[in-house]
Amino acid sequence: MTGIVAWYTKKSRLPNLISCIYVHNPPARLLERCIKWLIRKGYHFISVEELYDILANHKVVPPGAVCLSIDDGDRENLINVIPVIEKYRIPTCFFIATEAVENGVFWWTYVIRSKSMGLNGVPALEAFKSMPEAERFARIKELQKVMPLEREAMTKEDIFKLAANPLVTIGSHTVNHACMDRCSKDELLREIRESKLLLSQWTKGEIKYFSYPDGSTISDGPEILLDNGYSMAFTTRQELIDISNHHLFYLPRFSINDKGPFVENLCKMTGVWQKIIGRMMSLDINAGFLFRVFSFRRAERPESGDTCCGKP
Ligand SMILES: [Zn+2]
Repeated sequence: MTGIVAWYTKKSRLPNLISCIYVHNPPARLLERCIKWLIRKGYHFISVEELYDILANHKVVPPGAVCLSIDDGDRENLINVIPVIEKYRIPTCFFIATEAVENGVFWWTYVIRSKSMGLNGVPALEAFKSMPEAERFARIKELQKVMPLEREAMTKEDIFKLAANPLVTIGSHTVNHACMDRCSKDELLREIRESKLLLSQWTKGEIKYFSYPDGSTISDGPEILLDNGYSMAFTTRQELIDISNHHLFYLPRFSINDKGPFVENLCKMTGVWQKIIGRMMSLDINAGFLFRVFSFRRAERPESGDTCCGKP
């Protein structure tokens, strides 16, 4: 397996390819281990601004270019992520969902915690993601009234301080962390415009980059984003960026699983997971067995939660 990882690592450092990696709320140790491995293998971290210059303005790509982003705006990022990116001088883009900043709690936490708080009849998380946005929003508002939960998202003051860090760029992740393919046109416009406006006010800066919550892209997304002053948008499609064949508003990113072991995430960062292990698992081939065969130290079933708001 190490040979396969080495092959994919070599491929991802070809001069026409760029890796983007995203994560939500990683433990400091896991993030540091991933960053140290990438540096040791000759990757070169670039900011989202540098990525834009390469893709839109044809600037030279450094060998092994990799761009890190963090979705959602979890407050624990301030403890677990900031010291690591400062230690290794890693430029990082934080994509923030603004409603959680204002109200303190991400919407999916209400759904996940509802059972343990004795609330029956609350639909499953996946059912919420399939609802029309207005229905999802109304149901979450009802849960908010009866579920007092502690803050888990960054505050406006946190966002202001974060934006002042020279390694940090702030981007939009909508207002309500809405699944965009479940929004009406008016709801979409609000998610895109209001999040940009609020983040601009909180950071005293311009907001130019966007990531689709849950990877929920829509066909007219690029046009709407461009019309509203965005320059680039990121999906959760797990591929390398090919600089000769890309779309600035549908950029792929590899995920790191917050709860996964390092070996799983090593495979994910390099694309091995998506190309080989994930496909074998989808065919019901035992990935744990596969890990043991190839001398990995741990064989854990991967969390499904490395997409947005699937992170319980
Ligand atoms: Zn998200």
